[in-house]
This record gives sequence, C-alpha cells and structure tokens, in this order.
Amino acid sequence: MKIIEIRDTVVPIKSEIHNAFISFSEMTVSAIAVHTDVFRNGKRVIGYGFHSNGRYAQQGILRERIIPRLMRAPAEALLNEERTNFDPHKAWQIMMTNEKPGGHGERAVAVGAMDMAIWDLTAKIEEKPLYRLLADRYRGGEVRERVPVYAAGGYYYPGKDIPALVDEMKSYLDLGYTTVKIKIGGTELACDLKRVEAVLKLLPSGDHLCVDANGLFDLKTALAYAQALAPYQLRWYEEPCDPLDFKVLAEVAAASPTPIATGENLLSMQDARNLVRYGGLNPQTDFLQMDPALSYGIVEYLRTLNMLQEEGWSRRRCVPHGGHQMAIHVAAGLGLGGSESYPGVFLPFGGFADDTPVEKGEVRVTDAPGIGIELNSDLFEVFQSLS
Ligand code: MG
Repeated sequence: MKIIEIRDTVVPIKSEIHNAFISFSEMTVSAIAVHTDVFRNGKRVIGYGFHSNGRYAQQGILRERIIPRLMRAPAEALLNEERTNFDPHKAWQIMMTNEKPGGHGERAVAVGAMDMAIWDLTAKIEEKPLYRLLADRYRGGEVRERVPVYAAGGYYYPGKDIPALVDEMKSYLDLGYTTVKIKIGGTELACDLKRVEAVLKLLPSGDHLCVDANGLFDLKTALAYAQALAPYQLRWYEEPCDPLDFKVLAEVAAASPTPIATGENLLSMQDARNLVRYGGLNPQTDFLQMDPALSYGIVEYLRTLNMLQEEGWSRRRCVPHGGHQMAIHVAAGLGLGGSESYPGVFLPFGGFADDTPVEKGEVRVTDAPGIGIELNSDLFEVFQSLS
C-alpha cells in the first residue's frame, strides 16, 4: 500500500468582495490529489484536499518540502500498525520533519490542505464517510447527524448599499439559514449600525445575527463598537482586534456584553492555547473558530480539542471558519457546535454536496466514503483535472 503520485494546482477564487481588512481580488487556493495504489469498487483511491479561503495557495511549500517528504518516506512509514490503511498522524509527522516549532504561518496552510487529502483517502480505504471515521476513532461512534450552519456574508462590495445587503440576507433565509453574519468595520460605526438594524428587521431576535470586524480595530474603536452593539444582543462580535493581541482582546471581552468569537487566524494548537489562557474569553459564552483546513489539519485540530478540554472548554463552543464539506464532517464527527458557511461565495470550494439542502439552519453530512468531494460537481471538476 503506497502513495504513487501527488499532484497539486493553484485555483483562483478571486472576487470583488472585501472585508474590513482585505480584498479577495487576488485570492487563490491549493488543490491536491494524492494517488494511491489501492482500489475500492474497481476505482483507484485518490485523496482530495484543499485549504479554506482567506490564505493563498501554497504551491511553493508543498512542492519544495511537503510533497517530497511524503514521496521519499518508506511506504510502511505512512501506514497503520496493521498495514491495512494509511495513518494520518504518521503522515503528519513526516510532513513536519525538520520544521522548527513556532512561526506557524503559510506552512500550517500547506500541511492543512495535505492533511485533508490524507484523511479523505484514509476514510475511502475504510469505506466510511469521514465524519463516521472520526466519530468511531475519537468519540466512541457518537455523531452529530445535523450540523448547525450559519450564512457568512454581508461583505462590502463596490456600490453595494443597505437594500442590497438586506436582499442578500433574505436570500440566505430563503435557502434555509436561520442565522446570518455580516462584516463590520469597512465603513463608519454609524453606517455599520444602520446595516445591523436593517438586517435585524428580517430576524426574530439579535441572537440570529453575528458581526465580524476581521481583526481591524484598535482598542478604542473595538470598545466603541462593543458599547454600540450591546443593545442589539447579537449572537457574537467576531475578531474585534488583531488576532494575536490577547491583551487588547481581553479588554474588549471584559467590556462587551455581546459574546466574542475569534480564532480563525490562529494556525496551531499552541496559538489556540495562548488565546484561551490569555485572551480573557469566557468558556460559557464565547466562541472559538480555529479552522483545521488552515491550521495543520485534523491531526492538529485533535490536539487543539484535547487542549480545550484541559482548559475547561466544551467542544460545543467551537464553530470553525471554513464553510466547506470537510468542516461539516469535522463538526459532525467530533461533536462541534456548528460550522460557518458561505452560500455562493468562494466557489467552488465553499459549499456542500449538490444534494445538501440547509433545513432550519442545519445540514446533514453525506454518506459517500471520504469527504464526498465527488458529490459536489463544481468542486469535483477542479480535482478531475488532477486525476
Ligand atoms: Mg471571520
């Protein structure tokens, strides 16, 4: 049993949208196909992986370090004890050979994408959907059949006014979402409050709306927003300040009656541990958004979940950034609080299998072996070019 070839490509997902911090006009994603010599149902098992939006394609690190290490490793070094399947934990160690601790950046994204492909092929060889494999291995078989999802949109777009924002949010509610998120910080506070109030008119309560500042604010602005947002009793106030400034975050968290959500720009277990130790967050009310597909993959995310348990956090407080099929499997198989979702944005990577409707704010995972990328026709087209 061995990997015979690994192919990767760079796919543009450029879009005119922007949040408070970046424009997506140059955004790209790495897509990876890991070909094995294993056959199931007459077909070669190929693992597919990619990373979430927001970090650029990682072709350099993949081709110079990650792929050569996996291809050079003796075949048995990647296998489980029984030699019946690949072992994602062993593959992870091989990918990280000769990598110093700390400095988690682009490398975490490259490994995250490859880790996804390794889990996809491992689940396919076991002929299970990924969520089932994760639940069987790490949760005594317990699965979350329906995963709560919310629609993340409300980006700033040239010429987009409040009626257009309201129409966008209406379209998400029509799709079956019950909770939505909009960006803040890309305009003045007074204008953002008008945007919030316009969207709230569509919703039964503030608990169905989240706002996301994408790490833009300094302490003074973050506090001004915290105070101004308080009366609306929103679900959460996301990334009010720089993702690594835990002192400022702690001050904002202490002053904000609205729960805080953050973590999508923390790319390792160690970074997440610093957040929960020093960020002033409340394990009863706040939300953690670390994204396995941007931060060394599921192998590292399992370490993060163990760390969170030690630090007194329930995994139900975890609602990862990502908004793709793997995120749903991870939430279902590891019992998380839910998943982000980007209806119609970041295509073809954002979104779920073709036959996955959102019903009352929840989606079901698919039962195809692996992640089920084959069931997402637009996304599978990308990977067919690597097959
Ligand atoms: Mg965000």
